[in-house]
Amino acid sequence: MRLTRTKAAVAGLGLALSLVACGDAGDDESAGVDVEVQEDAGSEFDDGTRMKELADSGEVIIGVKFDQPGIGFKGATDDMPVGFDPELGKVLAASLGIAPEDITWTETISDNREPFLQSGEVDLVLASYSITDERRAVVGQAGPYYVTGQQLLVASDSDIDSLDDVKGTEVCSVTGSTSLENIEAEGATPRGFDTYSECVDQVLSGAVDAMTTDGAILLGYAAEHPDELKVVVEPFSEERYGVGYSLDHPEMCQWIVDTLTAAQEDGTWEEAFAATLGASGVETPEPPAMDECPAA
Ligand code: GLU
Repeated sequence: MRLTRTKAAVAGLGLALSLVACGDAGDDESAGVDVEVQEDAGSEFDDGTRMKELADSGEVIIGVKFDQPGIGFKGATDDMPVGFDPELGKVLAASLGIAPEDITWTETISDNREPFLQSGEVDLVLASYSITDERRAVVGQAGPYYVTGQQLLVASDSDIDSLDDVKGTEVCSVTGSTSLENIEAEGATPRGFDTYSECVDQVLSGAVDAMTTDGAILLGYAAEHPDELKVVVEPFSEERYGVGYSLDHPEMCQWIVDTLTAAQEDGTWEEAFAATLGASGVETPEPPAMDECPAA
């Protein structure tokens, strides 16, 4: 059974949300968040800031996942990705005066997020992107805007139901992710793929014993295949999702934090969460407090 199309119009928030979940994410031109676009946004930002440049140009390139139901998903014929990450991307773009349809969405996989930010291929990354010290040494990461934890996805009839059970088994995840490193430390034989969709196919075919990554991602896949897959074990890591930006533009950090804090306070964050990850069965949490930005 696939998830059915879910639509929620949210009155009074200046926000209308609709979600096309999982594999059925195709043909609805209106899918996604409809945010209030800031008028004359260029005048809101100081000269010389990257935000002013983006606002004046009317263009922003945002890197998101294309194959993670609930977090970032775009079918081959869809115009726009849907999921919690793209929803927040639209909120950030709107504060630059850029409408959702004017955003350029680029697929970022786990392994190319830092290089894409460093080379300027994308302006922002919202792609289930855990904040780590190693990553913060080479790119900016503002947040966290969401906190999740690593779990396991196994076949419905699998005997694996504790972390101990993965010792000596083959577990897939994605190259360049925190998940692959963590599971190796638990004694499993790690199998790295480029994308999570390739990895989930391995579990479905029985080629590997389990898949591992953030629970929020796994629940999206389990919701797509409820008869074949289940999520097991308590979260065994803390994954704090941040918005990636280039260290060439340190001023972007405070703008991201301020814009997302406003979205947390006016209910936009919560509504976006409920309509996206919420549809995969993740309970809407309290929004996390974000880190202070490094001194520019
Ligand atoms: N959040 C983890 C990471 O950033 C795993 C998910 C992903 O690869 O996007 O590495």
